Amino acid sequence: MLNPVTFTPKSLEDYRAIVGDQVIEEILKLAAHVRGARLIHINSTPFGGGVAEMLTTLVPLMNDVGLETEWQVVRGDAKFFEVTKTMHDSLQGTGIQIPWSQYMSRVWLHYNQINADLFDQDYDFVIIHDPQPAGILKMVLQSSNRVRHGKWLWRCHIDLTESREDVWHFLHPFIEIYDGLIFTLADYVQVGLGASNIFILPPAIDPLSPKNVELSPEVIAQALSPYGVNLNHPLIVQVSRFDRAKNPWGVIDAYRLVKREVPWVQLALVASMAHDDPDTSKYFQRIADYAGGDCDVYLLTNLVGVGNVEVNAFQRVAAVVVQNSVREGFGLSVSEALWKERPVVAGNVGGIPLQIIYGKTGYLVNTVQECANRIVYLLQHPQVAERMGRAGKEHIRQNFLVTRYLRDYLKILNRLSGQVEGVEEGLEYRPS
Ligand code: UDP
Repeated sequence: MLNPVTFTPKSLEDYRAIVGDQVIEEILKLAAHVRGARLIHINSTPFGGGVAEMLTTLVPLMNDVGLETEWQVVRGDAKFFEVTKTMHDSLQGTGIQIPWSQYMSRVWLHYNQINADLFDQDYDFVIIHDPQPAGILKMVLQSSNRVRHGKWLWRCHIDLTESREDVWHFLHPFIEIYDGLIFTLADYVQVGLGASNIFILPPAIDPLSPKNVELSPEVIAQALSPYGVNLNHPLIVQVSRFDRAKNPWGVIDAYRLVKREVPWVQLALVASMAHDDPDTSKYFQRIADYAGGDCDVYLLTNLVGVGNVEVNAFQRVAAVVVQNSVREGFGLSVSEALWKERPVVAGNVGGIPLQIIYGKTGYLVNTVQECANRIVYLLQHPQVAERMGRAGKEHIRQNFLVTRYLRDYLKILNRLSGQVEGVEEGLEYRPS
């Protein structure tokens, strides 16, 4: 067995009041076809980052609708996660140009082999998330007397549009043998993958998780009290890992421009130190140096107690939420902020434009100056900010809640198990 992740049970019924009867009935109908199937999700970390965030909800909900669902994370050490971070950055096109070396290939292969050896049971569906554990299928098949059991899906959460060719070439043979592939956007589908059983599935948030559930003003005040933020002054918030793709330096630059117009503005950069991301502490120091001791800039992490409820509270008190990414597979933090009726100013990249309809649910920006201008505008026009917040919440309710995500997964599982009904246009990839 790999490392099993324990999870808190959830009930689909609890979502009925938010999404309506029709959505719940459709899910139950789709689930009936695969009831009792054994399914496992495998990824690289139990917390920190969007994949873990979604599995925390998806896994218990899949159980609730009758799939016997497990979640395990790969075993690996610092060496492995260094390599997979390079692989991730190279595929997402954000890495400093570190060439993919034979040493890296060896480390990745070695740990995938270890994890394949630990993969000790048969499932009806195996869903492997992202490149870190992507080699397990090939290695399971190569080990003596193992045959493929069940359907294997590779779920890619990252934007591959500018991936380094050498890294993708290395990975490709491990990917093409899956029974199905899932990408966040059609643009991310790599050439050479063929087109059958490729599905397009944007992520989603859980409106009832501690991260997103409604909070009373008292709980918000209590959650934020240790951090010294002045709740009477406007606060800009970005909630994101500290790394190049999320461009926290650009947020500080934009904040400095805003401060010229609104001197009492504050900035909170909230980051979790994900266990599969060895760069975070290195970046924390660099960003702290860049902020240069400005006492209106708050750098906060899970290491000082900023967990889900605190993130929720920070997002709720933000005058403006920023997601200044230069690369972004989807950007769950954007959905989270929109769900809380916050106006969002975000980088015009990856999956963000799915969520931000320009001028309606927020603003898409391409430069620091634009980012600052839009923040100032929203600070000075609270009615516009309020209108956008309301539209944003509705957009998320319609498109990016976990119930839609669960429904689409069930459609894919139905399709892979031979039930053709229910995989409609949009979910199935069609090359343009
Ligand atoms: N997150 C968090 N605490 C933090 C920073 C991030 O819980 O200090 C969460 C954030 O709320 C979101 C996820 O991590 O749910 C990040 O997902 P996203 O898709 O935005 O980016 P990723 O890290 O997966 O690239």
